[in-house]
Amino acid sequence: MELYNLKTTKTPGVFIITKFDKHLEVESSYILTYDDCHCPRGQAHSNCRHRTMIHIFKQHKHVDDGWFLDYHTRQWVPPVDLDTNAPEAHEREPAPLPAAAAPVDPPPAVASGAPKPRVLGLRGL
Ligand SMILES: [Zn+2]
Repeated sequence: MELYNLKTTKTPGVFIITKFDKHLEVESSYILTYDDCHCPRGQAHSNCRHRTMIHIFKQHKHVDDGWFLDYHTRQWVPPVDLDTNAPEAHEREPAPLPAAAAPVDPPPAVASGAPKPRVLGLRGL
């Protein structure tokens, strides 16, 4: 999984794209424009995935809002607060009760397991 987010800089048309691994650890970060990218491939080629992604981020309006793009699947991952880094906060939320819980009626084990009233039947004959 390769996640990226895109941020603008003070210079119009200049962006910073950051690559994260699946643990949202920063792997690399490049300064780029629509025409130029500082990544290793971008220095040798006229195009690279980063410049492609500027258009994707713009198209989906996720520039500067912290959303991550999974480059390969083109799926969007919501932003996380990297600074607090407190996963317990999520775990502390009470788990929702299962709405479709089984009814509390006791199982009809007694009725089905009870012996048939054979004696009464015989007495009836
Ligand atoms: Zn690049």
